[in-house]
Amino acid sequence: MSDSLLGAGRPPDVPPWEDGETLVAADLGSTDQPLEAVIVGAGFGGIGMAAALLRRGVRDFVVLEKGGEVGGCWRDNSYPGAACDVPSHLYAFSFEPKWDWSRRYAPQSEILAYLKHCARKYGVTRHLRLRTEVVAATWEEMLRLWRVDVLRDGRHEQVHTRLLITATGQLSRPSIPSLPGIERFRGRSFHSARWDHSWPLLGKSVAVVGTGASAVQFVPHVAELASRLTVFQRTPHHVVARPDRPYRAWEQALFRTCPPAQALTRAYWYAAHELRALGFTRWPGLLDLLAGRAARRHLARQVTDPALHDKLIPEHAPGCKRILLSNDYYPSLARSNVELVIDEIAAVTEDGIRTEDGRLHRVDTLIYGTGFVATDFLAPMRITGLGGVELTAWWRDQGARAYLGLSVPRFPNLFMLYGPNTNLGHSSIVYMLESQIAHVMRCHRAMRHANASGVEVIPECFERYNERLQRQIRRTVWNTGCASWYLDAAGRNTVNWPGFTFQYRWQTGRRGLQAYRMIP
Ligand code: NAP
Repeated sequence: MSDSLLGAGRPPDVPPWEDGETLVAADLGSTDQPLEAVIVGAGFGGIGMAAALLRRGVRDFVVLEKGGEVGGCWRDNSYPGAACDVPSHLYAFSFEPKWDWSRRYAPQSEILAYLKHCARKYGVTRHLRLRTEVVAATWEEMLRLWRVDVLRDGRHEQVHTRLLITATGQLSRPSIPSLPGIERFRGRSFHSARWDHSWPLLGKSVAVVGTGASAVQFVPHVAELASRLTVFQRTPHHVVARPDRPYRAWEQALFRTCPPAQALTRAYWYAAHELRALGFTRWPGLLDLLAGRAARRHLARQVTDPALHDKLIPEHAPGCKRILLSNDYYPSLARSNVELVIDEIAAVTEDGIRTEDGRLHRVDTLIYGTGFVATDFLAPMRITGLGGVELTAWWRDQGARAYLGLSVPRFPNLFMLYGPNTNLGHSSIVYMLESQIAHVMRCHRAMRHANASGVEVIPECFERYNERLQRQIRRTVWNTGCASWYLDAAGRNTVNWPGFTFQYRWQTGRRGLQAYRMIP
């Protein structure tokens, strides 16, 4: 085991500190023992998992984070206008309510600050290893341990651990489209999740490719700065009004002094969002009646130019692609310095984008709001389980699958937070993560109780679970025929959870343990 990974020579009680707004990891003492757990990723999942281990008194673990600070997608997506589209009182850990959210839908900077606060308050920073990328993990049968290979400051190191818990998210790897000539562009180009803040957009001629959840948030801001903005839309999406507003001082005071009021607000948002699962997963017609009608009214009210209006009418069922929330996206498209182009992109040239109709749209800045590679779970990490089976290769044939999104046969003691089929169209992913974290802790407790070296999901339980899940997915709105990032190359939905979040919580509860066998 590498001493340097564990941080030899520094006392374990060095307090976490801040370097400006950037958290810096303190070191652990050195040890020759394998770790109890390695957590990969320091976003919501990684921080929540680490806090749960610490609450249970487990201290011999590290959180390996390839970035320079905590925050996951809330660190990476710093584009102007970035904000959550789930109400903040619900999009927060249940164990760390925050009474002073500035608005109903908090901006990115506030969510990032919240995550840093949680990492600090719960002692997670002490276990953090920043700029440390996990490249591979191999189950060593003789040792009954995971060997984890990491790159740290360009150096290769190894660490052994009993539990391997990945918390790498589904939306961490930007997807850059393979447009012909893309490498020839001579201006500045970047993806929305790698926003180039050193490149002022004032007076620039800008192209935006993509009109999804990220683009509708940053396009209005770019439109205000750019001299000219051309938005390239492949598919129109459903957009509904965003019921956002700042919290009033008296409301924040009430949340601070009367915690039940805050709990009630969270419960209200939880119930209101959970009802939507009926439309997404049972009766898509309901979504058309409610969200579809609201989106059509929103479009008609905000876009009065008939030509622009027609370009923005979606053809797919509402909810098949994510329903977007925005009050300023449509008005920004109607500005005189903005053009919405629906002709297909033929090629990127040195100085712009050429569309299929032969027009060259000259720009000096190209922004990709083209989403993420979501269905290649855990890639590019190479995870090798029992008998040398490699996880991503195994999944390539049959689509990514896991039991409860968390565990896979032949990969003992591997748990994936936010793994296959645990994304939501209707509510807060933080709620799902907390169900998963509790499940991992239950497995860990059961393992210790049985004095076992590990747990492995039973193949028959894994198969039965996935057959039922795919049957349920067939009747969801995501299977009504549109192309979306929820579907893999073979058209299988390996991303979304086809039910209520309380059903998932129930299944990840104590009864979920029956699907595992103990490894002596
Ligand atoms: P996205 O929803 O996948 O949207 C990507 C956009 O790029 C789509 O409009 C897509 O068109 C377009 N596109 C992709 N490849 C293209 C190509 N080759 N040529 C032309 N257009 C292309 O990505 P995103 O907007 O980054 O959002 C991803 C997810 O992140 C969301 O669904 C949501 O879950 C999450 N998110 C959440 C928030 C939040 O508030 N919590 C905010 C932002 C993002 P098509 O529709 O035709 O494929």
